[in-house]
Amino acid sequence: MRLMSIASGSSGNCIYAGNDNTHILIDTGISKKRVEEGMKRLDLSPSDLNGIFITHEHSDHISGLGVISRKYKIPIYGTKETIEAIKSYGSVGRIEDELFVEIEPDMYIKLNTLSIKPFSISHDAANPVAYRIEDEKSRIAVATDMGTYNDYIINNLEGLNGIVLESNHDIRMLQTGSYPYYLKQRILGNKGHLCNEMAGRLLDIILNKDMKKVFLGHLSKENNYEELAFESVRMEINLSDSQYKADDFDISVAKRDAPSVVAEI
Ligand SMILES: [Zn+2]
Ligand SMILES: [Zn+2]
Repeated sequence: MRLMSIASGSSGNCIYAGNDNTHILIDTGISKKRVEEGMKRLDLSPSDLNGIFITHEHSDHISGLGVISRKYKIPIYGTKETIEAIKSYGSVGRIEDELFVEIEPDMYIKLNTLSIKPFSISHDAANPVAYRIEDEKSRIAVATDMGTYNDYIINNLEGLNGIVLESNHDIRMLQTGSYPYYLKQRILGNKGHLCNEMAGRLLDIILNKDMKKVFLGHLSKENNYEELAFESVRMEINLSDSQYKADDFDISVAKRDAPSVVAEI
């Protein structure tokens, strides 16, 4: 499979995953133009997409969905609650009912040679999910917008070859920063976002010898920066009791405003 972040961060998220004959996006929280430019790097166009999988209805995950789906008529997969929330969310405009496909956490969606499994995450949205994507050769996941993790999440992230994992904020930057109190509490809460340290600890648990690529993603613009997320996550791995060292793995930060490298997994 190939895995690429077209954009990742609190201001817009769009991840490509696919193999030779099946192509999907996880979320479309950026403009149609940026999706087109990102896919061009893969020698693809949005018309090649077999589906768009939505994690949840927050605008940084769906803001481009209306424009893209109206132009390219791509099926949109999401939980019933996510779809209802998108429909009631005025700013994406009208999307044809026929394009929506309802899914449920823990089901397997077969799309040509890809098998896609949504699994529940803890976030302040309507029945949000992350996705595990497999084909006969490899297994990847896109897991962001998680206030916390548990054994269920860990199980769904086991045995991966590639991942986009949230490393949202530095707790100290958030606590001393300019966000209003309620927003700080929201981000720090169980239904908020993973801080750098928690991302590092979770990554350490799910690392395995076949993990080829780790993208740290969904960084906060105000409360994090690339080097800090990168070093904090690496430190958690290096300080843990596990057999792994951060240097053994290809870890990089997915950028907010530019596509990542294309990881061949
Ligand atoms: Zn969110
Ligand atoms: Zn988000």
